Amino acid sequence: MILRADWVLPVARDPIEQGEVVIQNGVIVDVRRRSGMRGGADVLDFGEAVILPGLVNVHTHLELTVLRGVVEDLPFFEWIRRLVELKGVLSESEWRDSALWGALEAAASGVTTIADTTDTGAAVYAMLQTGLRGRAYQEVFAVQPDQSAQKTLRELEDKLLWLHRATQGTLVEIGVAPHTLYTVRADVMTALREYTREKGYPVCIHAAESRDEIALLHEGKGKFANMYSERGITWHTPGKHPIDILHEQGWLDANTLLVHAVQTDSHHAELFAATEVAVAHCPQSNAKLYNGVAPLSLWLQQGVRVGLGTDSVVSNNTLDMFAEMRSAVMLQRAVFGMDSCMTARKAVELATLGGARALGMAERIGTLEPGKQADLCVVSLNGAHSFPVYDPYAALVFSARASDVVMTMVAGKVVYRQGEYPLLREPVHHLRERLRLTVRRIRETLSHDGTE
Ligand SMILES: [Zn+2]
Repeated sequence: MILRADWVLPVARDPIEQGEVVIQNGVIVDVRRRSGMRGGADVLDFGEAVILPGLVNVHTHLELTVLRGVVEDLPFFEWIRRLVELKGVLSESEWRDSALWGALEAAASGVTTIADTTDTGAAVYAMLQTGLRGRAYQEVFAVQPDQSAQKTLRELEDKLLWLHRATQGTLVEIGVAPHTLYTVRADVMTALREYTREKGYPVCIHAAESRDEIALLHEGKGKFANMYSERGITWHTPGKHPIDILHEQGWLDANTLLVHAVQTDSHHAELFAATEVAVAHCPQSNAKLYNGVAPLSLWLQQGVRVGLGTDSVVSNNTLDMFAEMRSAVMLQRAVFGMDSCMTARKAVELATLGGARALGMAERIGTLEPGKQADLCVVSLNGAHSFPVYDPYAALVFSARASDVVMTMVAGKVVYRQGEYPLLREPVHHLRERLRLTVRRIRETLSHDGTE
């Protein structure tokens, strides 16, 4: 199979004008200037478009998709408390439908690999149904006094066993996500560290996201501290910054992905580089929840492994990686001025190769190069908002949007093409109808609570 377009962006090297990508058995065998070969059944010519590596979204919560836009304009603490309340409303099948809708949105937006943190495991189902590559980190919460380390590990092992069965021989891998330092007690964190290291699980942790988190861990003050004392939860204040605590607990290594890290400084950037820990940068979520702008430019100067993530649609509100790339550039330039090292090219690198590196998958994906998996997307450049194109990187980051994606391919299989999902086992409108019922129920719950 040969895919052709006006532009091919291998990311590993300079853009190719009038390029083509040759694919055999799901693997890229050549990336080159358009050959003289005439079009045949195996040649797809996209014309005024760009072919680039599939986008890697390093942080999502697909199962929360049905809650898009349900909690707005609240500061972080109030936002997360409302979200936890709403999570009690959904059934298992509703979580699956919700996650599947998110996976479809991702596939239609050019995303080929997702790193998802999942409480219910629904993300695994969603990725398999859609044909996406990914990693599902099983979330762990343990702040209640009755949630001992032993009990937590036992419950985790049960869930992991189920996830391994569901994903055997697929493109989906399993990891573990201790949620945060303020939702998993220190003794449980220690037990989880031993367990994940022994079993070799990749790890994902939300860290240094909000000022409230810092206030709790550093000073034992603030909204989280007040809530814990109201609920009778014993809280020991470590008196340190969350990143320093994670370092002491031994989490900072190449197998760990830290999410957000907004409230960090140059000392932390050096620590990230030295320990090879990866960071998921979620600029839009960080801004929308009033958490600030993460020091991405410092990380890049230090050579930290960074990928881009949208976070859940409850805090974003879409899985549009083009918007995320644009925000990553804009916010760094707005805050750091000429000291920012963000360009359109850098943003595309972060959303492809950067994400692949952050997940330890760069040998297989992240660039268009012979020998790598045929994970790619095709973005139309013929919209009024894109024409004319002098620089394909600028076109992708400053003009394009997710709806310009015309095809998404994972391991040589088309997972999305012009509104269709070839691997999906049911019509999309069936799923939408079921979700409408869920939405109606959520709205009823909200109106009973008097919040709508
Ligand atoms: Zn998150």
